[in-house]
Amino acid sequence: MSSPVKSNETALREILSKLSREDSVKILRRIFGDRGVRAAQKAFSKGVKKLRFKPSNLEIWLVRGRGRKEHVVLPGVFCDCKDFYLNVVVRRKIAACHHLLAQILAERFSTYEEEEERDFKLLKILSEEEVLR
Ligand SMILES: [Zn+2]
Repeated sequence: MSSPVKSNETALREILSKLSREDSVKILRRIFGDRGVRAAQKAFSKGVKKLRFKPSNLEIWLVRGRGRKEHVVLPGVFCDCKDFYLNVVVRRKIAACHHLLAQILAERFSTYEEEEERDFKLLKILSEEEVLR
């Protein structure tokens, strides 16, 4: 299944794969403004985490939000924040929230943290999210 978010994401990853960290931040700022700046702050300050679940091997990404909250991100597809819901899905105003951008940056420059968890923890994380309520 193809979505506008997904095709933008592929193009962005392609562009960033050829750029230095500094130039990537510049380009994100130029395209996404303040969202690009916030994405870089999270990506380069341990704000992005990849969780791999065992034994299923499923993985999700968590990006730090305000305070202690972490947003569940499925790369190129989904984020559970309000900006994604309002401005990407409903208003179609932007291509991505800054959490999705932070995930792309952190993966590109390997600045994310990686953790392994048991499968039951995935259910716990998802049940704490408003998306399933
Ligand atoms: Zn988000």
